[in-house]
Amino acid sequence: MSEAVRGADSDLLFLSGVNKTFDGFKAINNLSISLAKGEMRAVIGPNGAGKSTMMDIITGKTKPDTGRVLFGTDTDLTRMDEPSIAQLGIGRKFQKPTTFESHTVWNNLLLALAGNRSPWFTLGARKTRAEADKIEALLATIRLTEHRDRLAANLSHGQKQWLEIGMLLAQDPQLLLVDEPVAGMTDAETEQTAHLLRDINRTRSVVVVEHDMTFVRALGVKVTVLHEGSVLSEGSLDQVSADPKVIDVYLGR
Ligand code: ADP
Ligand code: MG
Repeated sequence: MSEAVRGADSDLLFLSGVNKTFDGFKAINNLSISLAKGEMRAVIGPNGAGKSTMMDIITGKTKPDTGRVLFGTDTDLTRMDEPSIAQLGIGRKFQKPTTFESHTVWNNLLLALAGNRSPWFTLGARKTRAEADKIEALLATIRLTEHRDRLAANLSHGQKQWLEIGMLLAQDPQLLLVDEPVAGMTDAETEQTAHLLRDINRTRSVVVVEHDMTFVRALGVKVTVLHEGSVLSEGSLDQVSADPKVIDVYLGR
């Protein structure tokens, strides 16, 4: 089968004919998916469908066996390592927290803003007006303005997830990848997270993997259903929910 070698000019991310086998098991199977510039996409699918592996491939953590992975129309991500891909403007939020627990919310954001500079230097140095403004804006986006002086360790589970999203935003990614952000959150936190991602999507592209259908509905974006490493269905949540192929997979028939 011939595969498209290039996405549309309006694509930010373009995967075509991607395959990845782990010890003989095909985790990603001829996967083709594209994301338009400025789009937010929800990716759903049963456990083991390859959702996290797809993100690993986009971020360079995993190299595909075959296939194309392009950022913009001609940046080949398969030739780049993880730090270079992050540098290019692709930020990824993992499920396990990576906040500095013994620092305040404010200092966590400041450290994220400083990137690789030493924490000693960063926390000791005078903050510039621009840094302070940027941190204020981040606090508002992640709903933690009132919690700026709390230690990260003392935040709720949901607030920690938001802080991490804020730390990623500090790096100014063009594309944000979030894997199961609302797992373990309360209903109220889940709802806030949908609002938060919609706010973020006003200026950045987002791919969000999530099982929680109430949350996916609240996002109100195009949905891609992955199954056995390929796209099973794509469309609005109502469209994919009514697709017999999707119903079969979810009911396990
Ligand atoms: P999902 O995120 O959709 O639940 P994953 O992408 O995590 O699914 O996993 C897809 C399949 O690939 C699973 O069967 C998983 O066990 C396998 N897999 C993922 N990463 C690795 C790895 N590094 N080594 C071996 N198998 C892996
Ligand atoms: Mg996963």
